[in-house]
Amino acid sequence: MERYAPTLLDLAPRDVISRAMYLEIREGRGIDGRDYLHLDLTHLGAEVVLKKLPDITDFVRTYLGIDPVKELIPVQPTAHYAMGGIPTDVDGRVLLDEKNTPLPGFYAAGECACVSVHGANRLGTNSLVDILVFGRRAGRHMAAYVRSTDLPPLPERPAEPAREEIEAIRSRREGERLEPIRRELREAMMVHASVFRDAGGLTAMQKKLAELKERYRRVVVQDRGQRFNTELLDALALGYMLDISETVVASALARTESRGAHYREDYPKRDDANWLKHSLAFRRDGGVELRYKPVVITRFQPKERVY
Ligand SMILES: Cc1cc2nc3c(=O)[nH]c(=O)nc-3n(C[C@H](O)[C@H](O)[C@H](O)COP(=O)(O)OP(=O)(O)OC[C@H]3O[C@@H](n4cnc5c(N)ncnc54)[C@H](O)[C@@H]3O)c2cc1C
Repeated sequence: MERYAPTLLDLAPRDVISRAMYLEIREGRGIDGRDYLHLDLTHLGAEVVLKKLPDITDFVRTYLGIDPVKELIPVQPTAHYAMGGIPTDVDGRVLLDEKNTPLPGFYAAGECACVSVHGANRLGTNSLVDILVFGRRAGRHMAAYVRSTDLPPLPERPAEPAREEIEAIRSRREGERLEPIRRELREAMMVHASVFRDAGGLTAMQKKLAELKERYRRVVVQDRGQRFNTELLDALALGYMLDISETVVASALARTESRGAHYREDYPKRDDANWLKHSLAFRRDGGVELRYKPVVITRFQPKERVY
């Protein structure tokens, strides 16, 4: 890390570390020329490793049969968090548009939500703080809201669209199993929309997504059970993953700058003049509509990140 973040070294933000790792691997310096690196904790000594890193120690012992006190750990960059999400206000109320109009009675908190405390690069440990603070605020607001409001009238058979969607997959007899579609989605998103992005890769990903969505329309499950049908759950989740990937790729392609974990190799600089704004993605029949809302800056002015 001396080469990439001379002052913070291994404690640099995770997007910086991921880029450094990815570059080393891409330039052929992965272990044995392969797609991973070694993390060395051996200089810390048994006491520090066991006391301060019990989770990591347990994981690598259980899954890799490696003792991190004495051996090197194979590592690779991966996604640890979704920056962005369902826009909410500080009480967890879901916001519908760039004017921050709340949708009454609909709340979100946690990683699925975007209350906008993390910007484009969440710092370590802040997810749990976010979840505790805004989960509690959302719960309190919900409790007050249900006390003060009547149930609105429901449309007739409100569950019908969801039931139809589920039933269409469960009862389909011919088509493609979900695993190849999910694997290709994962692999293509890793190549084109993860640590490094550029217009060529993102455009290729849009085409790939159109193909995968077409194949997904004919997805079949073998388990036709009505209870604890995890294959059916996976098939439904895959449809949502395709939708989310489509919005991620459209937003990333439009944003011709680099900011936080969004790193465009063809636009490596942050561009506050044009892009200091939130992307809002709306799913439409023809694809994704992008709109934007301003970032409210109060006490802390944005500065260039230097490590
Ligand atoms: C490797 C790794 C390390 C991390 N380390 C840290 C850290 O050190 N500090 C930190 O602050 N954050 C860390 N994070 C991030 C943090 O763990 C997550 O952001 C946080 O756990 C998300 O909590 P959540 O309750 O919002 O969502 P989740 O924990 O994802 O919970 C969502 C739940 O909803 C369930 N669910 C999904 N769909 C449905 C459905 N249709 N019906 C019913 N249930 C459903 C899921 O099964 C799941 O149990 C880390 C993340 C990763 C991946």
